Amino acid sequence: MKQRARAVLSRAVNQPVVVEEIEVDAPRRNEVMIKLAACGVCHSDLSATDGTIPFPAPVVLGHEGAGTVVQVGEGVTEFAVGDQVVSSFVSMCGKCRWCVTGRPQLCDQAARAGYTLPDGTVRTHDLEGRPLNVFSGCGVMAEYATLHVDNVVKVAKDIPADRCALIGCGVMTGVGAVCNTAKVEPGSIVVVFGAGGVGLSAIQGAAISGAVQIVAVDTNEHKLGMARVFGATHVLNATQTDNVVKALKQMTGGGADYAFECVGRGEVVAQAYGCLHKGGTAVVVGVAPPKDTVSLRTASFTFEEKTLTGSYFGSARPREDFPRLLGLYRAGRLKLDELITRTYTIDEAPQAFADLAAGRNARGVIVFG
Ligand code: NAD
Ligand code: ZN
Repeated sequence: MKQRARAVLSRAVNQPVVVEEIEVDAPRRNEVMIKLAACGVCHSDLSATDGTIPFPAPVVLGHEGAGTVVQVGEGVTEFAVGDQVVSSFVSMCGKCRWCVTGRPQLCDQAARAGYTLPDGTVRTHDLEGRPLNVFSGCGVMAEYATLHVDNVVKVAKDIPADRCALIGCGVMTGVGAVCNTAKVEPGSIVVVFGAGGVGLSAIQGAAISGAVQIVAVDTNEHKLGMARVFGATHVLNATQTDNVVKALKQMTGGGADYAFECVGRGEVVAQAYGCLHKGGTAVVVGVAPPKDTVSLRTASFTFEEKTLTGSYFGSARPREDFPRLLGLYRAGRLKLDELITRTYTIDEAPQAFADLAAGRNARGVIVFG
């Protein structure tokens, strides 16, 4: 059965988001309809509205959602009505070379389904019947969404949906970059650039991994206060030094073992690489605009054996990692409550995006009535 739903859309580049009533089609084969309970507002949603991440408008935003399955399509065996689920913005086909080698975050199907469901079509329309694209196969900043089962992960019902939603992007991305991609060892020195929802989660990942020094770098003093709550042992306000790399080398006694760029700017990637000592690893987590580049001293790769790599969705294996992260939360070792600075109604979505742009929140979460 079709559903009317209020949804948060980007209708044109560089325009504020709008809240509109849309129509969501019933699930087809291997699809489920979800009634969303909560959806986090990630910087990537904002980047989809300003061309940093090019998305063809109009697009229903949202890729960090949790809710309940309300309809299942033909052939669906792993989900039932009433299940609590979290969206996965990568679609895991389970068959491509990346999925079969344990790297579903690189799934070929996900790459094809950039702004539609995997079959290239959408289940979302405006009230005149015109199709609406969906962010990364999800479009879960809406009261209802129909997703392919490869973009959905079942989770336990004991944890509130707003906490579960955070796992669907920011927490998985940040913790995963540290634990899955870099595999930070106990005793390491870690620097995290950008203390937003992703960077604060990277800081938590470093603490969970047993890092002994965790330096948070941000341009916003308010964020540095938050960073301490999530486990930063030291902080650096990048606006208060004329040489970030030098300051970090001093603070770390010669350089870091690992650095995580959670901002999305080549200039900051260069700082992350620069603050490493010999043998260190820098991980690019932020999503930079398409034409952004970075310039590095080539010989440092050879003589210092430094590594520069990237991390998409925290190198997640969502069906394995989402329950693990929720297990850490249950055990009191992963902070999710503290990540939610503020909740918003769907009508307040434009304010949620403005607050994200102004750096007011660790994470803002839209909660559906
Ligand atoms: P956010 O806006 O909540 O946080 C970004 C932080 O970076 C802010 O606190 C800001 O003050 C800080 N910052 C800005 N310029 C800086 C600078 N020069 N030096 C240090 N800090 C600076 O964003 P978020 O939701 O945490 O996302 C962070 C980045 O990660 C974005 O680029 C987003 O698109 C990307 N992202 C990547 C993935 C992935 O799969 N790799 C997933 C989600 C988000
Ligand atoms: Zn995100």
